Formats: sequence, structure tokens, C-alpha cells
Amino acid sequence: MDLYQMNVFLAFTYVYVFILGMCMGSFFLVVGYRVPQKETIMGRSHCDACKEELKWWHVIPLFSYSILKGKCYFCASKIGLKNPILEVFIGLLFMSSAYFLQLETEVLVSFTFICLLFTISISDYLYQIIPNKVLLPFFLIGMMERFFIPQSDYWWYPIAGVLAGFLPLFLVGMLNEKAIGGGDIKLFAVVGLFIGPIGALISLFLSSVLAIIFYVITFIRTNEKQKFIPFGPAIAVSSYLIYQFTSGQIDTMLQLFSR
Ligand SMILES: [Zn+2]
Repeated sequence: MDLYQMNVFLAFTYVYVFILGMCMGSFFLVVGYRVPQKETIMGRSHCDACKEELKWWHVIPLFSYSILKGKCYFCASKIGLKNPILEVFIGLLFMSSAYFLQLETEVLVSFTFICLLFTISISDYLYQIIPNKVLLPFFLIGMMERFFIPQSDYWWYPIAGVLAGFLPLFLVGMLNEKAIGGGDIKLFAVVGLFIGPIGALISLFLSSVLAIIFYVITFIRTNEKQKFIPFGPAIAVSSYLIYQFTSGQIDTMLQLFSR
């Protein structure tokens, strides 16, 4: 391949990755909306207004929104822009991840990780629930991916990550049951699998800071005390940032420490 062909190939790859990301965003939106309410994730979505079951081409990300001009096919009530925006957002995250990781195999791990963080952000924000039914499959897929695509040369690294994510919050929970939700503790264990022990500890700190900032902002805006701090989205944002900053550089970091 000459340089021109290479660039065309890369451009197509990134477009495909973007479309894949939008489809994943569309699917995991449904998971985040439905699983906490114990609904099945099989079966098509319904229009919120007329409850009519959507046709298959109504759920193609972005495409269907533009064809339907933002209105329900059956009752013409407005479809919010929220879902298409989130789908495009996940598409962009997939694309930027593929770019930063230069299409190495680690890209697969990053896609899984983005889907996990996205799903739990939706369900935690809407219902203050991080379902086991979401965490467990991602934990198993993450284990498998980290076995074939390790983050470090040390085989115990993902296990240390799980422990570093789980233990600090577990101890806090033991001391004060109301301080932290069980879902957050389990989520951090899964996050540790993906980003390793150092990442998990930094993320623990950063997400607490973010959660306090979220809390203060909502307090100022609504001027009332919130019952819940949605810790999930704060964990998602901080873990994603740390993942992007550290992926591929972990071994260099460890070598620096072991000198
Ligand atoms: Zn409708």
C-alpha cells in the first residue's frame, strides 16, 4: 500500500469505528434504561407518547432520526435529541479511542470499557442503581480481554486492580453503611480490572473530587440538598480520563517505580 491508499484505508476504518460506536451507544442506552427496571433488553423500543412498537429502521442511530425529522412515525410526537446526541457521543469516543491507541488490540478493551462506563452512568443517573446484571457480564468479558490483551507484563496486574478498586470503598462501607452504595463498590472492582491498581487508586481520588463538584453545582443550581450523589457518572468520567492517559504507558510507569 502506498501512502494514499493507506490514508483512504484509515479514513474508512475510522468511519466504521464511528458507526460501530453509535450502534453500541444505541444498544447500551436501552440496557441502561431497561435493566434497572427489570425489563427485557430483547424486543423493540416503544414510542414514549403512543406506545406503538417502533419498526426496525426506526432504531438505526442518527439515520432514522433524520429520516423521521425528529418525529414519531405513528403519532408525530417529538422525539428528543438526547438519544441521538448520546449515540454520536459514544461514536466519537470510539473513534478517538481507536485513534489514540493507534488501532492496537487494546482498542477492543477500550470499546468494552466505554460501553461499561456509559451503561452504568445512564442507570445510576436515572435510577441510582448499578445493576449486577450489567457489572457481571462486563467483569467476565474484561477478565477475558485482560488475559489476552494484558495491560502490564505482570500477570497479577488485573487482580491487583480489582483489589485496589474494591478494598478501599469496601472498608468505607464497613465503617459507615450509608456512605457508599454497594453498586459503586462493585463497579470500582470491575473498573480496576480494566485500568489496573494504580489507575484504580487515582480514579478513586479523582471521582470523589468530581462527585463533590457535581454535588456543589446541583446544590447551587437547585438550592436544595440532594438525597443522592450520582457517584456512577463521576466514576465513569474519571476512570475514562485515567484510562486514556495511562493506556500503553503502564509498563514505563512501573519501570520507573522499580528502579
Ligand atoms: Zn408515537
